[in-house]
Amino acid sequence: MILCCDLHIHSEYSFDCFCSIRDIISAAVKSRIDVVAVTDHNVMCLTPQHEALFADANISYIRGCELSTKEGAHIIGLFVDSSILSGSVHPKDIVERICRAGGLVVIPHPFKPVTGFVSVYSDRKDIFDYVLSKTALIELYNGSCDPQNNLPQIRQLARRYSLGLIGASDAHRPWHIGRSITEYEVNSCNLENLRSILVDRPSKPVLNLSQRHLTWFGKVVKLRKKIRLYRVSIEFVPLWLKTSIKKAFYTLQRVLRG
Ligand SMILES: [Zn+2]
Ligand SMILES: [Zn+2]
Repeated sequence: MILCCDLHIHSEYSFDCFCSIRDIISAAVKSRIDVVAVTDHNVMCLTPQHEALFADANISYIRGCELSTKEGAHIIGLFVDSSILSGSVHPKDIVERICRAGGLVVIPHPFKPVTGFVSVYSDRKDIFDYVLSKTALIELYNGSCDPQNNLPQIRQLARRYSLGLIGASDAHRPWHIGRSITEYEVNSCNLENLRSILVDRPSKPVLNLSQRHLTWFGKVVKLRKKIRLYRVSIEFVPLWLKTSIKKAFYTLQRVLRG
């Protein structure tokens, strides 16, 4: 059987996301996803009650977190606990904590400007080599980065550092879930050894991003970011106001989508 995994999803506990756990679950069920990793920014807030909701929907849940380094790059830990949250935000220390917790290190959107690990650390050879030598998986496709750039370079890094290639949605909205997933062929639906499936089994990253997924709102956001006046003036808008506007648009989109 084919196991469909979305290993990078945000919930309402991320500062930039309003997606409830119930929203995530119903979107995952709709997209026929078997395994979900919730990877909020620098927090791990899901309770055993939340985790039980995934089990009720027959979805395997992986505890994860997307941590920011002091230079702003993102590094994901999967199968981790909250011990990874406290300590230095040097990238070497972050991956050490993830490994010590028995987790898997994942590099999301490696070439994304500002937050991509490769973009930030490509000229810091000691950090670059150390972190990638401890990494298990790297995102080939990220459902929130469009277009998908640098695919040959990501494949090359995966070969050089023996990394598994994955696709993940990086969803911040329920309707983004499943934009990109990773498929694994497994012999049974016994997922007790999920960690070793992700490490040992050949992965098939899948990109479902199409014009259909690019909403009118997404197109407006992209266009808006190209306008210089917008880019300059947005710096002066207080965070609470930006968050309120985002939340209002999110609510509007949900209503429009029924
Ligand atoms: Zn990220
Ligand atoms: Zn993310």
